[in-house]
Amino acid sequence: MGYRDELEICFRIICCFFAATHLLDGATVLTGARIIDGTGRRPLENGAVVIEANRIVNIGPADTVGRPPGAEIIDLNGKTIIPGLISAHTHLGLCKGIIGPSPENYTRQNVQQQLQQYERYGVLTVMSLGVNKDVLYAWRDEQREGKLDGADIFTADRGLGVQRGAPPFPLFEDQVYRPASVEEAQADVRESATRHPDMIKIWIDDLFGKAPKMTPEIFSAVIEQAHAIVNEAHKNKLRVAAHIFELSDAKALVKAGIDIIAHSVRDKPVDTEFIDSMKTNRVAYIPTLDLDESQYVYAEQPAWMQEPFFTKAVDPALLERWRSPLYAKEMQANPNTAKNKAAAITGQHNVKVLFDAGVTIAFGTDSGALPTRIQGFAEHRELQLLVQAGLSPTAAIVCATKNSAEAIGATDRGTLESGKQADLVVLNGNPLEDIRNTTRIYMIYHHGKRVSEP
Ligand SMILES: [Zn+2]
Repeated sequence: MGYRDELEICFRIICCFFAATHLLDGATVLTGARIIDGTGRRPLENGAVVIEANRIVNIGPADTVGRPPGAEIIDLNGKTIIPGLISAHTHLGLCKGIIGPSPENYTRQNVQQQLQQYERYGVLTVMSLGVNKDVLYAWRDEQREGKLDGADIFTADRGLGVQRGAPPFPLFEDQVYRPASVEEAQADVRESATRHPDMIKIWIDDLFGKAPKMTPEIFSAVIEQAHAIVNEAHKNKLRVAAHIFELSDAKALVKAGIDIIAHSVRDKPVDTEFIDSMKTNRVAYIPTLDLDESQYVYAEQPAWMQEPFFTKAVDPALLERWRSPLYAKEMQANPNTAKNKAAAITGQHNVKVLFDAGVTIAFGTDSGALPTRIQGFAEHRELQLLVQAGLSPTAAIVCATKNSAEAIGATDRGTLESGKQADLVVLNGNPLEDIRNTTRIYMIYHHGKRVSEP
């Protein structure tokens, strides 16, 4: 081979390299699909979305949206596009397959696999709402540098619970604060804030009367201290989300200035006093309906437990356990089963009443907190439970996208609009006709790049 031939080959390699990088950075046009943009507007039929790098740069009717020269055109005729789902109440690194919450599970590999599973299921942003080790911030930084894939991490740091009480994980000394006084609680919030969390988490629950509950003095001090701190990432006060079960606690928290109620009120129906205070104080409400259902439903063997969308998300050992007659017997004998079923019914009733009254409903599942709360799958089941509760499919999708984004301060995403992060899920069916169609995933784009499906 002569010198010229070698030069020619070099030249061609360089050309190929530039052509390839051009393609990588070039625009993508998704065209011909029905677009549900997450704002609650009517769907756009035969729409187009133009993606450049990790942003949506144009969206509208397919015949009016311009196609940038050299763009990759993807025909999605017959498909439906929704925004990537945002789960504002999840947990990372607590469980591993059939193994329940343990500090040993908080490893980079386990957390990455969980983030990847969320992403495969179209849940592209997750708020890890407490019980986090400090190393999560390093992984969040890696993610922002493009070195760790999967759903985008938002974090509520460790959170504040109660000694010998909630959260009921006794081993997690470096994953949760358990302040004994107002002063300790204030110091814990200030220490958390130095790590720049997206939120602060507190637990107010006596665990069916079996444990001490955080006192109003302490939770009021936490909220006041957090609100006195400017959250640099969000250019706003540091917000506080509360785990609750009972209406009386939820009311006291709203009075104390809480920003987010992170579970359903499910001991009794909500009343006018609570509804009015939620609206006046603009508190967001995350129902986590899947949490209650997951405490008993697998023993009932619903048809969806046979579907690959479910089985692919679940550890085989867990599937085997849930399918065994022994598990059904255990559930029947468990005194909490009846309480959990009653809680599920009350939770569904309350979310409909609050939604109808105009309270902001955000979206989360508590997936990852126990092996029964299946990351990625739980979010689709939650959409179905919201619709079963009486919300329209459009409204349920708004909760899981726009409202969740606002609740966790991720307002650069959550709707399909020009300038937003290009996080979207392409479906084979129309979820407005049947919300179960969110499980029929065709393609997923996260940060403008195609990622794999379940
Ligand atoms: Zn939780």
